[in-house]
Amino acid sequence: MTYDCPIREGARLRPHAEALRFAGQTWTFRALDEEVTRWTEALAARGVDQGQRVALLSTSHPAVTFLFWALGRLGAIFAPLNARLTPAELMPLLEDVEPRLTLALGTLRDRLPEAVVLESVPDGVTASSVPERTWDADTARVILFTSGTTGRSKGVVLTEGAFRASCRASAANLGAHPAPRWLGTLPLFHVGGLAMLTRTAYEGGCLLLHERFDADAVNRAIDTEGASHASFVATTLERVLDARQDRRLPATFQCALIGGGPVPTALLTRARAAGLLALQTYGLTEACSQVTTERPGEADGRTAGPPLPGLEVRIVGTDGETLGEGQEGDVEVRGPTLMARYWRQREATRDAFHDGWLRTRDVGVLDAKGRLTLLSRRTDLIVRGGENLYPAEIEAVLANHPAVLESAVVGVPDSHWGELPVAFVVLRPGHALPDDLDAWCRQSLARFKVPTRFVAIETLPRNAMSKVERPVLRKHARSHPP
Ligand code: AMP
Ligand code: MG
Repeated sequence: MTYDCPIREGARLRPHAEALRFAGQTWTFRALDEEVTRWTEALAARGVDQGQRVALLSTSHPAVTFLFWALGRLGAIFAPLNARLTPAELMPLLEDVEPRLTLALGTLRDRLPEAVVLESVPDGVTASSVPERTWDADTARVILFTSGTTGRSKGVVLTEGAFRASCRASAANLGAHPAPRWLGTLPLFHVGGLAMLTRTAYEGGCLLLHERFDADAVNRAIDTEGASHASFVATTLERVLDARQDRRLPATFQCALIGGGPVPTALLTRARAAGLLALQTYGLTEACSQVTTERPGEADGRTAGPPLPGLEVRIVGTDGETLGEGQEGDVEVRGPTLMARYWRQREATRDAFHDGWLRTRDVGVLDAKGRLTLLSRRTDLIVRGGENLYPAEIEAVLANHPAVLESAVVGVPDSHWGELPVAFVVLRPGHALPDDLDAWCRQSLARFKVPTRFVAIETLPRNAMSKVERPVLRKHARSHPP
């Protein structure tokens, strides 16, 4: 089975339908198709070809969507990088993907001197002929970076088949909706953002793209631009509701998916009271976004819902045995949305699968109706407002500080951000807690990774295997608020 670019298909089937909106500008499917064609020719002229990677450092911008589809037409792989990362954090990722071309939006180029300014791509030369590449289910479309517990980033390779299957499964769960108008406030360098980008294209809908999350802009799009769907993390949903002072949502707004980290039931209840069907969802990059999502008809906000149609979830015990309902264990997923592999990491890829099931490294439990509740992460990942933070990476930076002997960073619950990172620091003899730890971290880490609190501690609690007992630290942080 081969697939055609959905933008080209859209231009044929519904040329005048809106496909993209950004900052007051609108592109119909025909206009978008023409733009993508221009970009395809410009990229071909720059030597981009099948199987090659193009790295991008950018916030959300229409050019990112042109690039995404143009790369697809060339059979090239899109490797977006988190726009919050520092040059030191970006370097190893670029070495890993070995891009044919590195692009950066506007002034973000200052962080990547080698990069070509994204907006300038279609200027100048264009190729006179561009080879027509077709896609099949196995065609790699993107590499998305996600970090492991060791702090080493892994590139998740997602295929055309995974995006299509995810889109189909999501639509089947939400119920047919003619041409959804999806609010695009999640970054396009996350799977959630790419899911919205692809979903609207495949369904002939319109992506209402926002450069960054802004609660007032979101509410304007809901009230006056006919937004029908949105994906939020708990923090952003809360800000949307706060900004509209719980004013009821118009009937044109069909539902919002809330996930990316723990979602308080009370928040979903509050959303429902404002007339917003807010559905909890559980997903991960390795499964091309949603795995489970509440069913619109039976949502109560208490679980992350059952698997999407076509996907399976099982709970596995410590000996690899499948557990029954009500039993806590490791969450594993199977279905057509799973990643092909980790980019250039054979061993990590092997570890990620268990008899064809993806090990999510999350701990959860299924109820009698097959609905999933997430309990914790097998890893010690901290999720701050939807952004993943990896303790090992922050600890490595702290360890370089002259006064620091060692440290452990843990997440503590926060009603606004979901979790915030707190650093427990063991100081070298004769040192007091330095007051420049915050500045020290900022030098080499993106702001969102910098701990919000530094606590001096005699020694780190360790178990018999000499592994740091993070639960003890979490409890300590909770019982000794700042
Ligand atoms: P990522 O690694 O960025 O792909 O984020 C996926 C991770 O976010 C999952 O493995 C979970 O740990 C977490 N996550 C996503 N959705 C939920 C949810 N509804 N409840 C709790 N944790 C979640
Ligand atoms: Mg992950």
